[in-house]
Amino acid sequence: MRRKVVVLAVVLGLALVSVAAYIGIVMFGPSAKPQPTIVSSSVPSAPDDEDVYAKRRERMVIETIERRGITDEEVLDAMRAVPRHFFVPEGDQDYAYGDYPLPIGYGQTISQPYIVALMTDLLELKQGDRVLEVGTGSGYQAAILAEIPDVEVYTIEIIPELATSAQERLTELSYAHVHCKEGDGYFGWPEHAPFDAIIVTAAPDHVPQPLVDQLAEGGRLVIPVGPPGGYQTLWKFVKQPDGELKAFNMGGVAFVPLTGGDQ
Ligand code: SAM
Repeated sequence: MRRKVVVLAVVLGLALVSVAAYIGIVMFGPSAKPQPTIVSSSVPSAPDDEDVYAKRRERMVIETIERRGITDEEVLDAMRAVPRHFFVPEGDQDYAYGDYPLPIGYGQTISQPYIVALMTDLLELKQGDRVLEVGTGSGYQAAILAEIPDVEVYTIEIIPELATSAQERLTELSYAHVHCKEGDGYFGWPEHAPFDAIIVTAAPDHVPQPLVDQLAEGGRLVIPVGPPGGYQTLWKFVKQPDGELKAFNMGGVAFVPLTGGDQ
């Protein structure tokens, strides 16, 4: 009897994890005592390994991104191109192409590939656009944005150690043209505003007004908004000619909290 209960609990647990992964809910939060994590260096692995990772990336794109309705070729090509295994901690490379977030140290995470693709898709980037990312983390999302042709990428990270390591990683992986800054992204990057698109990869409990102010007319703001430590709503806002935001509810997500600003 006891064995049956244990087996049932394990099966239920696995089922819950699979459902969460399938519907694209990202579950994570800061650990009690944030610790640095050694993130893999970008020294290339053996060519054979790279072939294996490229195949895993292709499978990731087909099974977890295209199959869930993302069809924009530029977004799919970007997801095929960026070697996610260089953005995850040493020892986690084997999990790099699974559809879940992974810890990157300091209580932070690299987001689930599907969510990265979805948010990139929602930005509707086009040639000549300038995009701001708040929450550089590992630099993976910034690299994906930089793969979209002729788009200028700006990214801000509040944790100094992550800001430094992401910038180094992006440079080593030929994304040196991404503009990186350590600072509080709640206030945006006014010197380079207006932005055609802004993506926020941590969740505030309200939309930061400086980001709205720095959005160009017709600009898209993609941002999870909601209480820290719980589920939030992923919103896409489009700035109208009168400055108002048209809002689109994209469903439930769970992100680490946006810190700084007036949170
Ligand atoms: N986009 C990242 C990637 O591709 O690895 C993952 C982002 S992680 C889910 C959220 C990041 O937002 C963390 O690195 C966190 O330190 C950062 N963050 C939180 N509040 C911030 C703020 N006010 N300004 C800038 N970055 C912030």
